[in-house]
Amino acid sequence: MENFKTIIEPFKIKMVEPIHLSTAEQRKEYLREAHYNPFALDSDKVIIDFLTDSGTSAMSSNQWAGMMQGDESYAGASSWHKMRNSIFDLTGHEFILPTHQGRAAERILYGYLGGKGKTFISNTHFDTTRANIEFSGAEAIDIPCEEIKNNKHFYPFKGNMDLMKLEKLIIEKGPENIAAVILTVTNNSGGGQPVSMENAKSISIICKKYKINYFLDCCRVAENSYFVRHREKEYEHKTYLEIAQELFSLTDGAIMSAKKDALVNMGGFLSLKNKELADACKNLLIITEGFATYGGLSGRDMEAIAIGLKEVFEPDYLHYRITSTTFLGDKLKAMGVPLIYPIGGHAVYIDAKELYNHIPIHEYPGQALVCELYLTGGIRTVEIGSVMFGKYDEDGKLIPAPMELVRLAIPRRVYTQSHIEYVIEVFEKIMLNRHKVRGLKITEEPKFLRHFTAKFENLTDIF
Ligand SMILES: *Cc1c(COP(=O)(O)O)cnc(C)c1O
Repeated sequence: MENFKTIIEPFKIKMVEPIHLSTAEQRKEYLREAHYNPFALDSDKVIIDFLTDSGTSAMSSNQWAGMMQGDESYAGASSWHKMRNSIFDLTGHEFILPTHQGRAAERILYGYLGGKGKTFISNTHFDTTRANIEFSGAEAIDIPCEEIKNNKHFYPFKGNMDLMKLEKLIIEKGPENIAAVILTVTNNSGGGQPVSMENAKSISIICKKYKINYFLDCCRVAENSYFVRHREKEYEHKTYLEIAQELFSLTDGAIMSAKKDALVNMGGFLSLKNKELADACKNLLIITEGFATYGGLSGRDMEAIAIGLKEVFEPDYLHYRITSTTFLGDKLKAMGVPLIYPIGGHAVYIDAKELYNHIPIHEYPGQALVCELYLTGGIRTVEIGSVMFGKYDEDGKLIPAPMELVRLAIPRRVYTQSHIEYVIEVFEKIMLNRHKVRGLKITEEPKFLRHFTAKFENLTDIF
């Protein structure tokens, strides 16, 4: 599609899922019933669902056709061989274990390697990764590069790991105490920012020098390959698949949540080069997930993963995927919406602290924007700020999170250009009303992961 400004969706629609439209009046009622927490909304009350890109992809007609061929045999299913071949082709890792989703693979591998006194190091551990590591008794240390702290300036690879800190930490802790270095591509918790091949190579050299395991958390490896090809000169003539293959070749293993770049609704895997480690993990897999040729997945799921892992590297798909996310982000930026820049691969992150700079942090500007987006346009998003990460000190005073962000995560192949245009129009209204918006008060909250189930009161209703 050279020489055209308009980038079209490289697919047409064969099966449709209705969106239930609602009025602002209805949404006001729905949100009140949900105690101002959109996690409590039923999905049929949502117009555009940007809660997550995980497990929300639309499968292709090829994937659906593959599902009909799912071999549901307990052992040695042909669907398993297809999934295994697809993963081997991508990773080059010889030992592959299927799991029902990413965190199951994490629990097996990091549970086995972790334990008291062990340290894991990552550009940024995803929350389930950190939880599994800490549950084993080990510690998880994030060392993202310095550039990520600057929200405004363009830097091509803000997902990179800080190499100086990496070597310093290894020496400080002792190489024998480092369970693994985990490179997350793209860096999900760090704004979906990409990691450069140069950075990945340098990490590999350091890990080899100290004989430390080097794993890839490869949930969005195809999206990362897109950025590498377009931002790292030596890679402009490589295919996206070749770039991903080179990245995997640097590592000792990988973990994937297939709910992201494998374009399916459920699934995951663990791949390893080392036989002893793989055998140990296989034992754990059989105890908790299932036999080694299905690991908690149906044959039909494995067929869909085998096909999705190939489709995701198609150049037209990736170009559409990344440019449509960037299109939304750039339009919002041009409108004056404060956001994390440059735009990452799977989501746009709005800086709610700056957008609603009249709302004090303890009244949760991020949650206020989440509510406004739903009330104005039926758009469901998630707060990544002090509702999610805030803690209290001894006097019950809020210790805020470092940033008050709202994430617009874009499901793969689900929404069209007009849906995105609609979201942009909703933001125009949000900008017009920005000074009138009030914050929220938490009225009820659980001890852990409070963002899922906390209840709020809208301060506009009170005053
Ligand atoms: C989603 C995700 C996981 C966990 O995978 P699940 O399939 O949700 O269990 C791990 N790491 C990253 C970077 C992710 O985005």
